[in-house]
Amino acid sequence: MNVLVINCGSSSLKYQLIDSETETVLAKGLCERIGIDGVLTHQPAGKDKIKMEAAMPTHTEAIGMVLDQLTDKENGVISSLDEISAVGHRMVHGGEKFACSALVTDEMIKTVEECNPFAPLHNPATLIGVNVCRELLPGKPMVGVFDTAFHQTMPEKAYLYGIPYEYYEKYGVRRYGFHGTSHQFVAQRTAEILGKPIEDLKIIVCHLGNGASITAVNGGKSVDTSMGLTPLEGLIMGTRSGDIDPGVLEFIAKTDNVDINEILTILNKKSGVLGLSGVSSDFRDIEAAASEGNERAKTTLETYCYHVVKYIGSYVAAMNGVDAIVFTAGLGENDKNTRATICSYFGYLGLEIDPKANDIRGQEAIISTQDSKVKALCVPTNEELMICRETVALI
Ligand code: ADP
Repeated sequence: MNVLVINCGSSSLKYQLIDSETETVLAKGLCERIGIDGVLTHQPAGKDKIKMEAAMPTHTEAIGMVLDQLTDKENGVISSLDEISAVGHRMVHGGEKFACSALVTDEMIKTVEECNPFAPLHNPATLIGVNVCRELLPGKPMVGVFDTAFHQTMPEKAYLYGIPYEYYEKYGVRRYGFHGTSHQFVAQRTAEILGKPIEDLKIIVCHLGNGASITAVNGGKSVDTSMGLTPLEGLIMGTRSGDIDPGVLEFIAKTDNVDINEILTILNKKSGVLGLSGVSSDFRDIEAAASEGNERAKTTLETYCYHVVKYIGSYVAAMNGVDAIVFTAGLGENDKNTRATICSYFGYLGLEIDPKANDIRGQEAIISTQDSKVKALCVPTNEELMICRETVALI
C-alpha cells in the first residue's frame, strides 16, 4: 500500500509517498515559506526535481499542492488520491501520554494538545498538518508517530531532574527525549547488521545532525537519552547550547539586561558550534576554517567531540557495558573525521576504528576492525520509512 508521510513544521512541510511493500520512495518533497509566500520542491522517483513558487498562505494550500503534484499528469506518481492508503504524521511531543504510535482520532488530537505546553512551536504545527489532511483526504486512516515515544521506557532515575518533585508530579517536568524514531530505527538496523537479536545488545546511538542527541539502547529499549524536557538539553548542536550551568541564564539576564525569551533565543539560535566558532552552524564550514588555521574553529570541533565522548562514557556506565557505538544523521553519516576522533577516546574499551572501513559517506558499514571488542558503525537514519512502517502496523 502507499503511505503518505508528513512532517509538518510551523512554516515548512516535508513529505514522502512510500510504497510500503517494497519500501521504495515514489516521490518526496518540501514546502517552504508557508504563510510568507511559498515554494514547493517536488521530486518524483526517477524524474527531475521540480521547484515552483506558489502562494501558500496556510498549510491547507501547501498540502493541497502536494496532493496535486502527486496526482499530476506529468509530475505525478499516482493517478488518483484513492491510491494513498494511509497517512503517517511525524509528531514531536507526546509527553507521558504516548509510549507508542497512535491512530489519529478526535480523542488522540485532544491528548496531543495537552502536550502542547512542552513543545509550543512544534506540536501545534504538526496538528495543523493532521487537521488539513483530515479535511483534504477524508476517511483515510492516519497515524501519529512521536519523537518522544521510544524514550518512554526510560526508568525514573534517568528521567527525573533534581528539582522539587512537585514540578514532575503537577506539571510533568522531566526528561522526555527526542529523535526517538531515528534512534529506534538505527538501533534495529544495527542489530540486523550485526546479525544478533536486539534483546542481547547494548547499543549507543549518536544522532549527530543539526539537532543532536545520544541514546543508550539496552535490549532494544531506550534507557537514557541526552535531550530532556525540550530539545535544548544535551550535546552541543548546530545552534543550540546543549547542557550549561543554569546559573549562566541569570548571568546573561543581568549582564545583557535581557528577559527569558531573549535568553532562550540566544541558547537555541545563537549558541552551539555557531556561537562557539563564530563561523557557521555547518560542520563543513567549520572544518574548512579549521584546516585554514582558524584556532577557534579547531577548538569548536574538539569541544563538540569531547561532549559527545562524555555522554558515550556515561551511557557505557549506565548500561554496564556497550556492544556497539553507532553514528547517524548529517554529521554522523558523512564525517569520517568526527567519527574517528570520537572513537579514538574509547581504546580502553577495546574499540579500534578501521580507517579504511571508516572512509565512507552516507552508507551502512561496520567501521571498527574485525577484532574490535566494541563495534562502531555508520547507519543512515530513515525516519520516514520508520513512520511508514508504524503506520502500516497500526492500521
Ligand atoms: P537536521 O537536524 O536538520 O535534520 P541533518 O541530520 O540533515 O540535520 O544534519 C545536517 C548537518 O550535518 C549539517 O549542518 C552539517 O553540519 C552536517 N553535515 C552534512 N554533511 C556533512 C559532511 N559531508 N561533512 C561534515 N558535516 C556534514
